[in-house]
Amino acid sequence: MADLKERIIPYCLHNAIEYGGKANPGSVLGKVLGENEDLRKSVPEVKKVVEEVVKEVNKLSLDQQKDRLEKSGVKFERKEKEEKKLPDLPEAEKGVVVMRMAPNPNGPLHIGHSRMAILNDEYAKKYGGTLMLRFDDTDPKNENKVPMLEAYDWIQEDLKWLGINFDRVETASSRIEVYYKYFEKVLEAGHAYICFCEQEKWSNLVRRDGGVCPCRSHTAQENVSKWKDMVLWKLKEGEAVGRIKTDLEEKNPAVKDWVAFRTVDDPQHPIVRKRIKVWPTLDFASAIDDHEFGITHIVRGKDLAVSELRQKFLYNYMGWKYPVTKVYGKFMTSDDLVISKSKIQEGIKKGVYSGYDDPKLVFLRALKRRGILPQTIRNYILALGLSEAETTVDLEILFSENRKLIDPEANRYMVVLEPEEIDISEPLKKSGKNEVEIKYHPDKKETRKISVSNKIFVSGEDLKTLKGKDVRLIDLFNVKLDKEAVYSKSQEFGFETKKLQWVSDDFVKVKLVTPEGVKEGVGEKALLKLKPDDMIQMLRIGFGRVDSVGKDQITIYFAHK
Ligand SMILES: [Zn+2]
Repeated sequence: MADLKERIIPYCLHNAIEYGGKANPGSVLGKVLGENEDLRKSVPEVKKVVEEVVKEVNKLSLDQQKDRLEKSGVKFERKEKEEKKLPDLPEAEKGVVVMRMAPNPNGPLHIGHSRMAILNDEYAKKYGGTLMLRFDDTDPKNENKVPMLEAYDWIQEDLKWLGINFDRVETASSRIEVYYKYFEKVLEAGHAYICFCEQEKWSNLVRRDGGVCPCRSHTAQENVSKWKDMVLWKLKEGEAVGRIKTDLEEKNPAVKDWVAFRTVDDPQHPIVRKRIKVWPTLDFASAIDDHEFGITHIVRGKDLAVSELRQKFLYNYMGWKYPVTKVYGKFMTSDDLVISKSKIQEGIKKGVYSGYDDPKLVFLRALKRRGILPQTIRNYILALGLSEAETTVDLEILFSENRKLIDPEANRYMVVLEPEEIDISEPLKKSGKNEVEIKYHPDKKETRKISVSNKIFVSGEDLKTLKGKDVRLIDLFNVKLDKEAVYSKSQEFGFETKKLQWVSDDFVKVKLVTPEGVKEGVGEKALLKLKPDDMIQMLRIGFGRVDSVGKDQITIYFAHK
């Protein structure tokens, strides 16, 4: 049994290291059985041991895991990660591809939007094409969708941070006259009509019962004249809408005679204010724009597939070619990740969130502040590819991707939360030390020196849970932990023996901002040499991004374990 465990440990360590510090029992088991024929007859037993060892291994830090694997002497072949390539776009010619990102500026971008942005960017680059940013800001009514003035700039900042260069920026709300002009053309040609039916009645008649709207029979002249009344705001909200005719046989009720224009009596728009009261729907405006801006390819979420069905009627009437579209599955945020505009604004007002970059949130600016790299997000999105399956944003996967990227660079520091002072004069005397020299990173040469006197700080949590136990104070000596620590001779350490970080009495104050709130602590003096945006690892706490550095205090945003 002990022998079995010894055989399994290296596999667990290897798997954990591959996945940024957390081994997965299923894949470890697969690998163990795959490479050890003799173990295949005792699968249940092996499985049990794997599960135990994974638990132990996952408690170790990545550095400890690497250290142990090296000491075990077992070597694993380096698996070259195959790069996941996006499938080709049909009819895509190098140099002539034109793509667009069309967000509604109702807030900054969140992790869900990054899929739309990154996929379009990747394809535009792949084909040496152009990429435009278009603000689809034509909903001045629905509370959660009404654009925000600041968001026009925020989104551009967010995209630049993601490494996305756009060649051109357009705003739908500045093009209302263009949409009017096209709609009038469609009316004149008899492919659209002004409908005066009450909305629910219309829905029951046409969508539910498969009937025909009576307004459909109005002549083109009648429609154009009613349209002029509509534009002059002689018809109020709810009195009339402009509809695009679709096939009477059209099976999909959501496509039937879709709305292209509606009146909003009290529009809330940050740019055009109340000047415009007759607004195109997103489907109408974006259909016109895709044509006018020569968009050749569209990559968007599957939920927008219905737009294509609607817009194709318009394209046929106009004799235009519809862009080639590719859809990816819905990319959702789980319920505990708040993205709703109204909820966030209420939360900011009440002080629940410090802003859109609050570490509890998943806006790109919040992830950035925590030290999630743009490359991490890109890798994560590209790994999902163009799959049409519904996916939920998994922050744990995102964090493990980030860990892989920052671990080789991030220097290690000692920070202690809820610090408790302990007396180490006895072990200090016995050890004869008064200074230690510690490497910043196990793979780097640079070191710093920390002088030690009789008092040091350890974390309150450690002092409580490990009181009386043998522990190692990192790079110092072993003690029996207590308010007055005693020198301990125990040398060898199993999985259970803790290596504790500590801070000397020459310390700096640390403010650690986490999704759960701000934690106070102390840290070693060398932290003061850091600059904002530096990524560090706080031993046994996790990775973090330096937010600000003061005279004797540093603020760090917690990234992840
Ligand atoms: Zn009608």
